[in-house]
This record gives sequence, C-alpha cells and structure tokens, in this order.
Amino acid sequence: MDTALVKVLGPKTAKVMADQLTLHTVRDLLRHYPRRYARRGEMTRLDDLEVGDRVTVLAQVKRVSTRPMRQRRGSLTEVTVGDGAGSMRLVFFNNKHPHLEVGEWGLFAGTVGKWQGDLQFTHPDCHVITGDDDDWARALVPIYPASKDVSSWVIQKSVKLLLDDPHALEGALDDPIPEAVRRRHGLITLARALVDKHRPETMEDVERADERLKWDEALVLQVTLAARRRAAALEPGIARPRRSGGLLDAVDARLPFTLTEGQREVGEELAVELGGEQPMNRLLQGEVGSGKTVVALRAMAQVVDAGGQAALLAPTEVLAAQHARSLTAMLGPLGRAGEIDGDPGGTRVTLLTGSQKAVARRTARAAVAEGSAGIVIGTHALLQEGVEFADLGLVVVDEQHRFGVEQRDALRAKGTRPPHVLVMTATPIPRTVAMTVSGDLENSTLRQLPAGRGGVSCSVVPAGEKPAWLDRAWARVREEVAAGRQAYVVCPRIGEEAGSGDDGPEDADGAPPDEKGAGDRRPPLAVLDVAEALRAGPLSALRVEVLHGRMPADEKEARMRAFAAAEVDVLVATTVVEVGVDVPNATVMVVMDADRFGVSQLHQLRGRVARGAHAGLCLLVSEAPSSSATGQRLAAVAATTDGFQLARLDLETRREGDVLGAAQSGRRSGVRLLSLLDDEALISEARAEAAALVDSDRGLADHPELAAAVAALAMDERADWLEKA
Ligand code: ADP
Ligand code: MG
Repeated sequence: MDTALVKVLGPKTAKVMADQLTLHTVRDLLRHYPRRYARRGEMTRLDDLEVGDRVTVLAQVKRVSTRPMRQRRGSLTEVTVGDGAGSMRLVFFNNKHPHLEVGEWGLFAGTVGKWQGDLQFTHPDCHVITGDDDDWARALVPIYPASKDVSSWVIQKSVKLLLDDPHALEGALDDPIPEAVRRRHGLITLARALVDKHRPETMEDVERADERLKWDEALVLQVTLAARRRAAALEPGIARPRRSGGLLDAVDARLPFTLTEGQREVGEELAVELGGEQPMNRLLQGEVGSGKTVVALRAMAQVVDAGGQAALLAPTEVLAAQHARSLTAMLGPLGRAGEIDGDPGGTRVTLLTGSQKAVARRTARAAVAEGSAGIVIGTHALLQEGVEFADLGLVVVDEQHRFGVEQRDALRAKGTRPPHVLVMTATPIPRTVAMTVSGDLENSTLRQLPAGRGGVSCSVVPAGEKPAWLDRAWARVREEVAAGRQAYVVCPRIGEEAGSGDDGPEDADGAPPDEKGAGDRRPPLAVLDVAEALRAGPLSALRVEVLHGRMPADEKEARMRAFAAAEVDVLVATTVVEVGVDVPNATVMVVMDADRFGVSQLHQLRGRVARGAHAGLCLLVSEAPSSSATGQRLAAVAATTDGFQLARLDLETRREGDVLGAAQSGRRSGVRLLSLLDDEALISEARAEAAALVDSDRGLADHPELAAAVAALAMDERADWLEKA
C-alpha cells in the first residue's frame, strides 16, 4: 500500500513534486531525505560557501536598505544576513521579496555569487521563521534537496503533514527488516528511523536513523541477489570433473613456466567447482599481467576432457584474435586435433568473429555445432548471434566484470543445461562493489604477478606547465626504440570526423561525468592527428602506425600482428589497446590527454607496458594544472600500482550512481544513503543475513514486508541496473 501524494498534499504541490523531484507517493517523499541539517545560531557554513554553490542557509537579518537604482528604473534592496560566524548579502530588485525585519531568522536559498568581493545571493527564496512556527524552533532544521518550485521548507512542511497523518502513512511504515535481524544489529524500527531522519532532536538521532535506513537498502538488495543465486543453484548444470591423462595434463606438461601459487590455488578452486553439478559462477580478479589466461585455459581443458566445449569471450575483436593466437601457440599440436600434425589427444581452437569472411565463418560455425571445436573464441556478440554449440560446458568472459545476469541468462538458454561461467577482470573491483553489483558471483583473486617482471614506473607530464617535458617524453620513446623496444601512444579519440566518440570497450570506466564533455574545452586529441604530427616531428625517424576501432577487422589484426612482430616501432591507438593486449617488447606508453580517461582505464593502459622482463615506463600527458583536482587524480594514479587502492580512488572520483549504473539515481529502489566506499561492514553483514533468510526453510514466507520490498525493487523498471551494471 502506497498512497499517492496528491491525496495528502493537494494537487498543486503534488504536481510540482512529481514533475520536479519525481516524488509520486508517500513512500517516495518519506525517502526523500534531508541533505543536511542547519543548526540555529551556529552557521559556520557561511564561511565555507563558494561561488556557484546552490545552498540554503539559516541566518539572521542584520540590515535592510532599499534605494532607487542608478542606471535603471526601479529599486534595489540589500539585506545583510549573518549567523555570527560569517555574513552575506541578499539582493532583491523592485521589492519583489517578503518583508524582512532586522533580528528575524530565516532560511535563504539560492546560488552563491560574488559582488565586490562579498558573497551574495540574488533573489534567493526566503522563508522567515516566525515565532509561532514550532518547526523553526527546532534545534536542527532539515535542509532538503529542493527544486525551483519546491523549496526545502515546502518539503519540510509536507513531510510533517505526512508524519502527523496516520491515514497517509498506512502501509508506508511496514518494516521490511525482520525483528530478529533488527535485534541482532541493534536497529531501530522503520517508523522511528523516518521520524528521526526528518525531524531529529540531535545529530545522534540522525546517525541512528541513517544506520537503520542504510540497512534497509543493503538488505533488500542483498536478498534480491541471494534469491538470484539460489534460483541459479536450483537449476543443475553438468558436472565436468577432472580427468587425468587428458588435455589438461598435456597442457600442463607443455607450459613454458611454472604456475604461480595463486594460479595453482585458483586453478584448484575452479577444478572442484567445474566438477560439480551446480553451475559455477565465479569472478576472477587479477592484476594486469597476473596470468589469468592460463588459468582460463586450464579450466577450459578440464571441460574439454569431460567431453564439453568451452567458449572464451573477449570485449574486442583485436583481443579475441590475440587470444586465438596465444592459445593456439600455447597448445601447439594439442590445438590442432584432426590435422596432419595435430595431436589426436588434443582439441581444436576456433575463432569466430563478426568480421570473418562468410566461408571461414561457415566452417567455424559448423565445427562449433558438431563439437569438433573444443575451444571457441569470439567477442561477446557470439552470444547474441544464435551460434549453436554441440555441448557448451564453460563460458569464460574476459575483461568484462560488467557481464550481467542478463547475459548469463542468454547463455543458459544456449545449452539444455546452464554452463559454468568464469568472468575475468583486471579492473579492480572494491569488495563492496563486488558484493553489490556482481553480488551473485563468487570471487577469486590473483594478487601475485609471475616472477621476473620489470614493473612499470609512471609519471605525469604536465604539458601545459612544462612543455619541455613533452619533448623529453618523445626523446624517451626514441631511446627505447633505439634499444630495440617498442612504444604505444594512446589518444582518447580517433579523429577526422565529427563527434567520433571514444573507441574500444564500452565507456564503463570513463572519466568522471562532471569532467566529461565540458563544452568549453578543446576536443580531445585524436589518433590520426597525433600520428601525423609525430611522423612529421619528433618521431619522424621511426615506424609509426595507427590502430583504432574504425579500421576493418583484418587490418586491425594485421596491424596488431605487425606490432607484435616488431615491424612497427610506435603504435598510435585508441583504447583498443586498453585490455589484454600482450606485446612484452613494448616498454613505453605515452597517454595523451590522460585526464580524459578514468582511473581504471589508465591502470589498464599502463598494464600494457609491464608485460616483459624490461622495466616499463608510462607517461600521462595532461594540460590539467597539477594543483587541480584532475591533476591530483592523475598524480595519485601515477603514484600507485596497487589495484585495490586505485579501485578506491576510482570510487571516490566517481559518484556511487556511476558505479552502480546510471539508473541507480532512481528514486524507488536506488541506494540513497548506503555508501559503497564507507559501508563495507554493513553491506557484508546484510549479505550474511540475506543469505540466511533466503536459504532458510520457509524463505521469505514469514517476512511479507521484506518480500514486498524485494518485489518492489524487482518491479521497478529501474531495477534493471542490477542486470546491466
Ligand atoms: P592477464 O592476467 O593480464 O590476462 P596474461 O594471462 O595475458 O595476463 O599473462 C601475461 C603474461 O604472463 C603472458 O605472456 C603469459 O604467458 C605470462 N605468464 C602467465 N603465467 C605465468 C607464470 N606463472 N610465469 C611466467 N609467465 C607467466
Ligand atoms: Mg588478459
């Protein structure tokens, strides 16, 4: 039961609330929480205000003066308000403002401007606090996110109306958190929490309310995910137990290196799970270069030994082709079963991509359908194209932790029984995000790099402040090439056409949104222009080639091959080289307009030059002043290669909503108070409670309120961020 606001507040207020704040029901309004609380008599915040802030301040009127304007007709009223700590000026034209008396307290809302060195509001919204208004006598005045026609105090009054009206509240206070859970974690009831959040006496009230309301968000989300895990577990797959003397053993015998301890441990974990009927759903996180491919290959070999097929999906065709090359090389004759020089105990590796010629494609599809291709490599599109498998036993998804439940469902539909799924990523995911966004995946981590890596050092080149440093960067590229090494130059854009977006994998980890598309900046540097300039200038003596997503697939492939064969010295590219590209002889990377890339992206890119025994160098070129937030973000990226620390940095520079998916900003289901950065402990407790509830004999049957909240989340079309995240 959720009453429409119009029934409680009247049509006019209800309409603007719906239009401007997307608040439609009593529940919506109750979940529209104050952003902060103003304290009477203590308004130090006036000192902290900056031009452009949109704020509401609680202050006392100190001075009012009205005079005619000099240049124009009409009058100008200046009001000085203060809170003891600071003061600011309010400006009104032509007496279009409420009457303000010296000594009165009021709430003033507007955008902070500056005039002759002083802060001022021009035509702020005003609400005078009158003595008989008990709302304003409160020690803490809630300040709500407001809109043009719905001020903070209109919201405050409306909420009060709701909270005083048992009729309106009916159903809205049904507590989704079971009493036992509340008791275990010392949580107050929903009714209490909402009152305390909207009309607190003290800040302790607010804290207790926050804790409780965050639990709401976390528990409902985790129950949803737990239910999904359970549903998946109830649908049995096919056990692919390990068999000795087969392909896996042959692969192990061929490996040119010994596995790291981490690779062995994760390998064991996978071997056990693949051997069970319950479909594996595992996320493998591992630093760039930690050797995830070989872990995947070994799992695929086990499945082939058990009579099944394995598919390896890459985010780009470049990467799919590279995987095909490197797996074929790793397998040698084992990957050519059925050919003259093939090993009859092996299997076949088949590449299947959208840009293949029709004939090649048909042959490949046939091999997949009849089952002679044990290992099939393609892009994610493989799933959408109706490719038939004889017996798909394992799907490995490379470099896409955003591989959602939806795709996994599409996969299950491929076989008669759901395949095992392994998702691999080097983009570090903070634990909390892993528990939320991909909450129905189990986790494994590779923390260790194979021995003997040269490592990578990284610095920022402030091209605006120190142009000479950029010359030095090109000199370093020339030096490396002279020493027999190779280089990447990465640019955010392809060039030569209007509005070419960025390239490569989806824009999942792009730069923070507030830094994107700022209209007054020059367009980002483009591959084609930069390559041109380098050929004509500092790198004229070197073999410079380009690589980007608009090139036909076979050209891309040829270009990558040429680079891998060291026939190209410098590859100027978009982020197509971001993930997985593996050319150990490449030791320098220059990232142009580095500030246009997100933290994870830069980390990924840098990983491209840390793949061999030689020390790598990564230079982040940016015109952003080093003291700016952007400059500092780059400096922080340069300063650490610890993926988990970077994941936190990434989370800090993006808003929660961007992490969870854009739709998360939605009202009904969204996470409003919960912080993925700060509430790790709470989220993991909620996760444990959720699992216990869902797995109990009666499931949610004894908790109709919780079941309803979960259903509401599922119903909400915006809940699809769970799938797409
Ligand atoms: P990523 O985890 O980034 O996908 P890759 O699987 O591409 O890393 O491995 C990076 C490089 O390390 C490859 O050239 C691979 O052959 C090599 N490699 C993997 N495991 C080991 C190991 N245990 N010892 C030495 N080299 C290894
Ligand atoms: Mg990889």
